[in-house]
Amino acid sequence: MNNQEKRLPAWPAVVHARCPRCRRGAMFTTTMYGFRSQQMNKTCPHCGLEFEREPGYFYVAMLISYAMFVAEMVTLAVALHVLTGSNNPWLYIAVIMTTGIILSPFNFRYSRVILLHWLTPGLHYQPELSGD
Ligand SMILES: [Zn+2]
Repeated sequence: MNNQEKRLPAWPAVVHARCPRCRRGAMFTTTMYGFRSQQMNKTCPHCGLEFEREPGYFYVAMLISYAMFVAEMVTLAVALHVLTGSNNPWLYIAVIMTTGIILSPFNFRYSRVILLHWLTPGLHYQPELSGD
């Protein structure tokens, strides 16, 4: 028997918004699209990691969310132009505003996931914390 716990892969932990340190505990208590606004756990329910590393830490996630929004909307505008060839600005405004509203819960959630999984110094996966 190997002393090393089984390593959990990174991508399912990212997709399912799991804790970056143990990849087991859920970061959010609510679903992405639901009637209630999204709520985060203060600490990881599996390993106890405090998600908000310092006061105001998630302000950084707003910048990530903004970058995600710009990337999505530029992609959408280019795709719209290629597919429709339209020069009507109202088409672009209507589609981009609607899609932006629809994607905002996605951006909110995954900007925090990206921040904690890849952009937080000193926070790494610790396989020994993945066990039961
Ligand atoms: Zn954890």
